[in-house]
Amino acid sequence: MPTYDLIVIGTGPGGYVCAVRAAQLGMKVAVIEKNPTLGGTCLNVGCMPSKALLHASEMFEEAGHSFAKMGVSVSGPKLDLPAMMKFKQEGIDGNVKGVDFLMKKNKIDVVRGVGRILGTGKVQVTGTDGKAQTLETKNIVIATGSDIARLKGIEIDEKRIVSSTGALSLEKVPQKLLVIGAGVIGLELGSVWRRLGAEVTVVEFLDRILPGMDGEIARQFQRILEKQGFAFKLGSKVTGVEASGKKLAAKVEPAAGGAAESIEAEVVLVCIGRVPYTEGLGLKEAGVAMDNRGRVQIDAHFATTVKGVYAIGDAVAGPMLAHKAEDEGVAVAEILAGQAGHVNYDVIPGVVYTTPEVASVGKTEEELKQAGVAYTVGKFPFTANGRSKVNQTTDGFVKVLADAKNDRVLGVHIIGREAGEMIHEAAVLMEFGGAAEDLARTCHAHPTRSEAIKEAALAVGKRAIHM
Ligand SMILES: Cc1cc2nc3c(=O)[nH]c(=O)nc-3n(C[C@H](O)[C@H](O)[C@H](O)COP(=O)(O)OP(=O)(O)OC[C@H]3O[C@@H](n4cnc5c(N)ncnc54)[C@H](O)[C@@H]3O)c2cc1C
Repeated sequence: MPTYDLIVIGTGPGGYVCAVRAAQLGMKVAVIEKNPTLGGTCLNVGCMPSKALLHASEMFEEAGHSFAKMGVSVSGPKLDLPAMMKFKQEGIDGNVKGVDFLMKKNKIDVVRGVGRILGTGKVQVTGTDGKAQTLETKNIVIATGSDIARLKGIEIDEKRIVSSTGALSLEKVPQKLLVIGAGVIGLELGSVWRRLGAEVTVVEFLDRILPGMDGEIARQFQRILEKQGFAFKLGSKVTGVEASGKKLAAKVEPAAGGAAESIEAEVVLVCIGRVPYTEGLGLKEAGVAMDNRGRVQIDAHFATTVKGVYAIGDAVAGPMLAHKAEDEGVAVAEILAGQAGHVNYDVIPGVVYTTPEVASVGKTEEELKQAGVAYTVGKFPFTANGRSKVNQTTDGFVKVLADAKNDRVLGVHIIGREAGEMIHEAAVLMEFGGAAEDLARTCHAHPTRSEAIKEAALAVGKRAIHM
């Protein structure tokens, strides 16, 4: 008899959530983790530390720029970076301890070491002392997540040329920060250091920021970031970074080729995306197939090509987001318990946690156009929202996209403060197949920023009240 019903390799949001759900369903579960702490990228070097620094740096900027106009007089705020990093670390520690607690509460065995799949039902774990043990299990879930993507010829030293991990722990504020990649993580971490005093230039290969997000939203967001002091070099590529001098010199060329220029910086942040992490797992030897982008290949039920081996989260296709990994973890645990676990990939919110925030769920206008779907648009700006006006935080707008035939909401996109919280009413509505009319007729508390969503839904039928 195998010792376990389920062994999960990796304890990021995909892995630990899968383990908890499986334990709730009566399975005997173990998790394997190679890092000293549980929680994966998200808790240790991803979502959580970045949000702690975004929050702290936003408070710093508010104290310096917004308090006075509200009649709150403070003498110029002083940055204590070590204290801010301590604040960040306390947040990480609290969350990591939370996962330790959940493992104990659900009687999940935590096995420390690197997991390697030997075949159906067998996982070898090698501890830091080099000793290996083999565990037997009915099922295995691969939840090994992702790693930073590297740029050829640019060596990351995590001091001056950093990945997101190094950018979360800089020892001083760089005078000039060059960010390579205008995706979510680059813009979030760029925002942190800009607020703390860095001059930030973002170089992006494409001719737009936030690839994949709604184009109109991305354009307005770029204008807002530029007003905040960001400089963008779009349609450009960094082809090398000269690190021999006191300052770094990045060689930047037009994406299509042409004359190169040199941009100086104290720190270069390489933020061009993430790649699935499957090193040392023994997938090839075990017969687990990968797709052409190095992701573990799965079917609609998260099953790999080897019986009893499943995969979820950043290690498989789909948006590299913690909540997507979590939902897949729950779904696969439920499938293993004989239930109908399922993830609706059409309704996965995405948020950029800057100020203002950008939040989005469902289809973009570009996707609807490309699919040939006739749609109607309702928009409402925060300049016309009472709560935003009194708080003097009127940047941004809400856009609702509805099916022209039946009014069903197909996408909602928001730029604005608290957009990341507001997006969920749209997500719930879309899960239930709701229409713009449903949203428009739902009573919204006044005065809230969420009223802008109701107004945008009213605007789909050309009857917004406050515009
Ligand atoms: C700076 C940054 C900010 C981010 N912000 C957000 C955000 O705000 N919202 C959001 O949704 N997403 C965010 N993400 C993405 C998010 O962190 C990932 O999508 C999420 O962590 C993926 O979860 P996962 O469980 O698939 O893998 P991971 O969290 O990567 O966890 C995988 C775990 O597996 C372990 N592991 C790997 N191989 C082995 C092995 N062979 N044996 C044992 N253990 C192994 C690793 O040590 C790791 O602990 C951010 C990422 C970064 C880098």
